[in-house]
Amino acid sequence: MKTGVLGGTFNPPHLGHLHAARLAKDALGLDRVLFIPTNIPPHKSLPANTATADERCEMVRRLIADEDWAFLDTLELARGGASYTVDTLRALRARGEDDLYLIVGTDMLLSFDRLWRAPEEIARLATLAVCARAADDWAQIERKAAQLRSTLRARIALIRGASLTVSSTELRQGGALRRFTPPAVAAYIEQKHLYGF
Ligand code: ATP
Repeated sequence: MKTGVLGGTFNPPHLGHLHAARLAKDALGLDRVLFIPTNIPPHKSLPANTATADERCEMVRRLIADEDWAFLDTLELARGGASYTVDTLRALRARGEDDLYLIVGTDMLLSFDRLWRAPEEIARLATLAVCARAADDWAQIERKAAQLRSTLRARIALIRGASLTVSSTELRQGGALRRFTPPAVAAYIEQKHLYGF
């Protein structure tokens, strides 16, 4: 079974996440994609008005409700502590997942060998599937992919396709919620008054 892994804070989840996951699924013929909310992100401090873990999970459920290939997986929340991707990939391997594709956007690829714990091991455990967060990201993605292929012998798949440029930060700051989240996610954010909505 070919399994995609999309880790993130999902604070909130948005159509950019779903778009990247779908592009990777279609390009690589993935059987499914696991959406894995982080417990504590090691390299990002969560803003003061952050949604709770339960709320982030509920929003992910709503984001993927119509997609039969997409699943919420709460293993990082269940593990507790700082969420290191290498630990997550090891746990998935131990569960019998032996064909893993780690879906990342431009920002995550560029910081891969600088910020991530045990990048060599991650590169052994999964193929990186890289989506551009903006259309003009490709030159830097290609440079970085070439470097990681040679230094870490990483397997990297470049997922070409139109970008959907949006971030959770923009949405928390009052960005166009209904344009970049499905109605069920927007309704939940408004009903719970998350992020000041
Ligand atoms: P924040 O703005 O709070 O930092 P974010 O929008 O970057 O959040 P995350 O949940 O941290 O969202 O991202 C999870 C993963 O999804 C990362 O690998 C990130 O690069 C990728 N990603 C997020 N938004 C997009 C997008 N619009 N297109 C492609 N990949 C994306």
